[in-house]
Amino acid sequence: MEPNACEKGRKLIPVAAPSIGQREIELVTQAIKSGWVSSKGEFIELFERDFARFCGSAHGSTTANGTVALHLALLALGIEPGDEVIVPTFTFVGSISPLLYVGARPVFADVDKDHWCIDPASIEKSITPRTRAILVVHLYGHPAEMDRIHDIANKHNVAVIEDAAEAHGALYRKNRVGALSDVAIFSFYGNKVITTGEGGIVLSNNKGIIDRVNFLKNHGMDPARRYWHPAVGYNYRMTNLQAALGLAQLSRIEDLLAKKRQIQSWYQAHLDAKMVTFQIEMPWAKSACWMVSVLPQKIVTPEQRDQLIFDLGRQGIESRPLFYPAHTFPPYVSFAQGTRFPAAESISYRGINLPSGVDLSEEEVRQVCGSLQQILTAY
Ligand SMILES: *Cc1c(COP(=O)(O)O)cnc(C)c1O
Repeated sequence: MEPNACEKGRKLIPVAAPSIGQREIELVTQAIKSGWVSSKGEFIELFERDFARFCGSAHGSTTANGTVALHLALLALGIEPGDEVIVPTFTFVGSISPLLYVGARPVFADVDKDHWCIDPASIEKSITPRTRAILVVHLYGHPAEMDRIHDIANKHNVAVIEDAAEAHGALYRKNRVGALSDVAIFSFYGNKVITTGEGGIVLSNNKGIIDRVNFLKNHGMDPARRYWHPAVGYNYRMTNLQAALGLAQLSRIEDLLAKKRQIQSWYQAHLDAKMVTFQIEMPWAKSACWMVSVLPQKIVTPEQRDQLIFDLGRQGIESRPLFYPAHTFPPYVSFAQGTRFPAAESISYRGINLPSGVDLSEEEVRQVCGSLQQILTAY
């Protein structure tokens, strides 16, 4: 794929690769052998219970992926057409599209220039009488500023939703994300902190919300009356095979998080602080370090950034652009009404994700740092 890298006999260093171990193979095999390959089976409830417990939440309901988990969370909160939901523009699009599924209006907010999560001051300015919820995203593993966000939410009597798809195990003031607000969602996509292949979960301390999610994801079927459907529902369930994979991954999550943190610290040790700025971990936060993300000092335009990604690729190093601001995508432009988001735009257009998979060695990180600095110096 990368001729230069191949000529040198180097393997491509991927930006993220899942770590699948013996336990994963054992549990998935056990699930297949049991015959419970679809959305019934013992691993589903075990995974829901153990993941909710890991996050300190009372209840969980698994889903087919993180995007539909958010769709279900919005429905269960009763978000309706025309309702406004405040959301950071700097996020993965899966945080935004479910708002359109329920007919809500995304009201975009800017992000903090240091930790890159939603800026509470920007939330405050975006509140209107139609605001129903604030959707926060713990971006690249770093938790959002929850106390200030809850103060605003309480003052205006609006719900708070955590999109924790990138932040399994992250701490906000000693508490794991995912149980801090009214409802939270996670993703278990292949590149996330733990994976089920595709998959997601809704967590809440409110049993009513999780009962509603269970009802909606199961075709809107009355739990007490088979094939009786009092509402339009969805088929948004996770399979037992996926839950088996998730349960095995969850048993290793502390090790995976420790390795992610070690990789982040290797980058910090081997990159010259004058050449790159990292997403900054705040004193009140412990990031899940999902993706090592940096702003190279010499990069100021998206074109320069794309060139850097290309040049790294020629050396056998995969990297990714940071997410584009969602308000610049065609379906969402009109919701921004011409507003600019200086911090989100600046970070988004300059930044890259570096290889962050848990199987990286320190030698590989050193190699990435060397190549990155050599390329930047030549610019
Ligand atoms: C991955 C992700 C999602 C969506 O999850 P899928 O499982 O891919 O549907 C939503 N929000 C954020 C912030 C994500 O990173």
